[in-house]
This record gives sequence, structure tokens and C-alpha cells, in this order.
Amino acid sequence: MTNDIDTMNKIVSFAKRRGFVFPSSEIYGGFGAVYDFGPYGTELAKNIREFWWKKMVQENDNIVGLDSSIFMSPKVWEASGHVGGFSDPLSECKQCHTRVRVDHLLEDIGVFADEKMTEGEINELLLENKEKLRCPKCGSSNFSEAKSFNLLVQSNLGNFTSDWNKEPTYLRGETCQGIYVNFKNVLDSTRVKVPFGIAQIGKAFRNEITARQFIFRKREFEQMEMQMFVHPDDAMDTYEKWREKRWQYYLEMGIKEENLKWHEHENLVFYAKAAWDIEYKFPFGFKELEGIHARGDYDLTQHAKYSGKKLEYRNPQTGEVFVPHVVETSVGLDRTFLAVLTDAYVEEKLEDGKSRTVLKLPANLAPIKIAVFPLMKNKPELVAKAREVFDELKMKYMCEFDDNGNVGKRYRRQDEIGTPYCITIDFDTLETGVVTVRDRDTMEQEKVNIKELPSYFRDIFDK
Ligand code: ATP
Repeated sequence: MTNDIDTMNKIVSFAKRRGFVFPSSEIYGGFGAVYDFGPYGTELAKNIREFWWKKMVQENDNIVGLDSSIFMSPKVWEASGHVGGFSDPLSECKQCHTRVRVDHLLEDIGVFADEKMTEGEINELLLENKEKLRCPKCGSSNFSEAKSFNLLVQSNLGNFTSDWNKEPTYLRGETCQGIYVNFKNVLDSTRVKVPFGIAQIGKAFRNEITARQFIFRKREFEQMEMQMFVHPDDAMDTYEKWREKRWQYYLEMGIKEENLKWHEHENLVFYAKAAWDIEYKFPFGFKELEGIHARGDYDLTQHAKYSGKKLEYRNPQTGEVFVPHVVETSVGLDRTFLAVLTDAYVEEKLEDGKSRTVLKLPANLAPIKIAVFPLMKNKPELVAKAREVFDELKMKYMCEFDDNGNVGKRYRRQDEIGTPYCITIDFDTLETGVVTVRDRDTMEQEKVNIKELPSYFRDIFDK
């Protein structure tokens, strides 16, 4: 597929038309950078979550799960540095009033703006490069002075005074803080021993300045994060191991390797030991999908300092007491969703000169695993038999029953949403008990006896 605006537009309209992603509150004109998953999107998102959980928690016996709250003590965000420093440089195009992130504009022309830069330093860069910078909407180079804009989303939870901003609480800006503050609880309540990890999937909220690029940059999004707590001497080995594991994860997920690449952060924050991103080739270019970071002991040390509680580990064998270092893997569910959709979306020319759109999703990610059709909907005996097959298979797999239109059209509909198999019940079935199973990718058809369907699909889906 070509990487351009057309492709992106195609994906956006396809996602809406086929019930994967809807703009939030659309009947009210939408709501910037907030989206809803439709019926098939909900299934795909669920399958991505399950795959991540399996690979991180189920398959690693030293990683446990957590589900911490979206609301946390405001102190958490002071300790983490988010209240003071979680900001992006915002500027406005003087011509058309589009808001832009100055660091992104600079990045587009190959100039790197460090996260630690002051407003003054960013403005110097803005001035120096003025002639080269262009507003993404109108093309003008006339921008207002950049201002730091904090990304934390405030709420008035628990604030019963009329002064709204007196004691702001926040919707969490990232899920990992819930992991750090539960480090001791997990240690005390389970049998984990360093090295161990805590994994969590959940919503995060950021007041993102620019609301572009569909679900790549949302204001309400979902993160899948794992924090590994390790001995300081083992941190870099563990880090390298997880870099490798996370790369393999995407290949196992079925993402094409040529659409992935590594990006090393050159300017690390002062506490970080290493930071690499896995980037995916989205229709708008290679962009961050996942961050893998060696964070030193910064997080536990900060929370120990602000809470006054010791966040250490005592080796039960040697008695050594130390503050574990953290190796983090952090990926957005929504960005994975977009990568998976982009990777799987194919427009194919067929031999008969016609074309079809097909989502070549791996079977475990497909929203619907099997579609069941009676050949004709006005033949009660065919419909009844098809219902029987459907009712049995749906107990194990997400299935869809479709009796609408001719079978060719039904195949196309299922191809578009990525259903790997379609079953057709015809008059032969009534006599012989044999159905036609059609494969999405090869479009080949096979005769299978109804009695053998459970083992036929078990071999495919339970691999
Ligand atoms: P970016 O530089 O693109 O803003 P980030 O470096 O701030 O991302 P992290 O704070 O490292 O992102 O968050 C970890 C992961 O969470 C990212 O790799 C990304 O997949 C996801 N993520 C972050 N912000 C968003 C967002 N606004 N919408 C969707 N996913 C996001």
C-alpha cells in the first residue's frame, strides 16, 4: 500500500463505514481527538489486549497483572514530575489560527527540540528556522511565540468548593504511575522476587495540542505498559532482552517487518540509561508505536521521597537491600490498532477483473472468526441447518450469521472485516451433512462434514 494522505483517508473512512472506529459524539459534530470503537473495532481492540496480556503476563511467570485507578492522589503527579514538566511547546499560526506543536514542526525539517528545553530556547529555534517552517493547514510561516502547555487533564473530583482550580486532581497521564505506587503492595501480597514485572492495560488522558492523525494521537487513549523491577547490575541485560522480545512480539502479531524500525533517543532525560522506540510505518510516515526505556531508580526514588515510604527490595538470600531499577515497555493500544489495520488493509484485483477489499488480519486478531451462511434465506430448512451450525460454533468463537444478499456479496462483506472463514450451508448439506468452508486469503473452498467442524477449527485457531 502506498504511504500517503489518500491511504490515510481510505483507512479513516473504511474504519467508520465498517464499524471499526467512529468519531466521538459525531451527531454533535464530533469531539477533537476523541474516538469510539464500533462493534468490530471493539472486538479487534479486545483481541489486541488479549494478545499483549498473553505475551506479557501469561507467558512470563515473573510478571503479574494490575488494574489501578484512573484517579490517583495529586501527589503522584508532583512526584513523577508531570505537574511541573509534562508539557509541549504550543504555537499558533497567525494566518489561520491552527495550533501546532513546535517540536513536531521542527522535527519535520530535521531540527531536534529537546524535551528539557526552556520556552526561550524553543523560541530561539522557532525564530532561527522561521523561513523553513510551514503551517500544516495554510502553509504560512508566521507563528506566535511558543508557550509551554501542560498535558495533564484536570478534574474537579472531590472538590466541593466553588473554586474549581483550588485543588486540582488529574485523570492519569500514563498508566505506569499506578504500577510504581503499588510496587510495595504487590511485593507484600504475592510471592514475586526481583527480577519481576507488573503489567497493566488502561486508559490514559492527555491534553494533546494537535488533534490530527486519527487514532494515532488521541486525548483519551489506552496504554499497555509493563515495568520490570531489576537489580541495578542486571538492568542493561534485562533491557536488551526486552528490546528483542518486543520486536519479536510484533512479528508474531503478524506485522510486516519492513514496516517496523528502531529509533534511538539521542538526548536522554537525566535519569534514563537508554531509550529506544519501535516505530511503525503509518500512512503519514514512520512514527513511535512503543517506547522501551531503562529508567534507572528514578521512579521508585521519587515516590519514596514524596510519600515518605521506603520503596526498596531486600534480597531474601543475601540480605542485600537496594532500590530496584525499572525497565519499561510502553505501547498504545490505539496506535497498535492503527498499525494492525494499516498492515492488514489490501485492495486486490481479482482474476475476473473485479476487485475486493480484504483485511488480512491474523486469525487471532480477526473480530469475527467464522461467518455462517444459508445459501438462500427463503428456504426454512437451509436457514434452520445454518442456525444449528452457527449456534454450536458461536459457543467457542465470535461468529456472525448472514443471510442477506447473494453469497458472493456476503463473502466480500466478510473479507472487508477480516473474517478468516465463511461456511455455506446448501441443499447438499441437508443430504450429506457436508458444508463449504471458504478461506479469506486464498478464496479456496473446501468440503467439510459438520461433525468435523469443531476439530477443523480447533486445529486452525488453537495453534
Ligand atoms: P509522542 O512523542 O508520540 O507524543 P510519547 O513519547 O509522549 O509519544 P509515551 O509517553 O512514551 O509517548 O507513551 C507510551 C506510548 O503510549 C506511546 O508509544 C504511544 O504508543 C502511546 N501514546 C502516547 N500518547 C498517545 C496519544 N495521545 N494517543 C494514542 N497513543 C498514545
